[in-house]
Amino acid sequence: MEQPKYKYIYGPVSSWRLGRSLGIDPISSFQKTCTFDCVYCQSGRTEVFSDRREVYVPTEALIHELNSLPEVSVDYVTFAGHGEPTLAKNLGGMIRAVKMIRKEKVAVITNSSLIDRKDVVEDLLLADLVEAKLDASSSESFKVINRPMPEILWEDMVGGLKTFRKVFKGYLALQVMFMASNKACAAAIAQIAHQITPNEVEINTPLRACAVKPLSIEEIEEITAIFRGVCGAESKVRNVYEVKREKIQPFCQPSTERRRGKENS
Ligand code: SF4
Repeated sequence: MEQPKYKYIYGPVSSWRLGRSLGIDPISSFQKTCTFDCVYCQSGRTEVFSDRREVYVPTEALIHELNSLPEVSVDYVTFAGHGEPTLAKNLGGMIRAVKMIRKEKVAVITNSSLIDRKDVVEDLLLADLVEAKLDASSSESFKVINRPMPEILWEDMVGGLKTFRKVFKGYLALQVMFMASNKACAAAIAQIAHQITPNEVEINTPLRACAVKPLSIEEIEEITAIFRGVCGAESKVRNVYEVKREKIQPFCQPSTERRRGKENS
């Protein structure tokens, strides 16, 4: 197998939400490290559960990779990867480093589990766009879909999202993954989204290879209509089936496949 030239950076990949996105994996561990074990995770089961922030990738090492990139034109530099990005204690330092070196906007894709913590909020405030997950309308459905560590409480996470919205001046996108097990919660999740008031709600369903079947276009359209009815006046609402994606050739295939699977989608 071809050895990855880049250990921490991957892509560019085509994202239905972010356009052309250059990925940075601030965890970059071969074992998936996360606070959740979502039933639909494309990376399989969580191997390392942790809610402790640590330095996984030294900022200097990331700077070295950023400076050795080929010329690449992208819309966003995005922190996301094989695990939860906010577990990186030096996330703020890495965002600052990217902003010194690259001209593009910076996005962070988070599962929202640590968004009630002050140090995490301070780091996320440095981003231009934060895409935050909310798949459940109650503590019970949270445990079924996201299978969090016992320390992570749904109520704290929702409270953290509401507080974050008040202080974050950038673009907040709420991503909701729908499948058969939470389809009936659509109206309740839409009500919570309405209280959070993100700039955008992204309705998704697991289209990449994983253990869960995606919902059909018709089912996702029904859910989208519910969200537009409840929070469409304040938040843009989009769904994964509505957006066309461009085919992009990553500059480093092995590092990209590790984070995104074979189908670069
Ligand atoms: S939060 Fe993301 S990385 Fe963690 S288990 Fe869920 S889908 Fe996988």
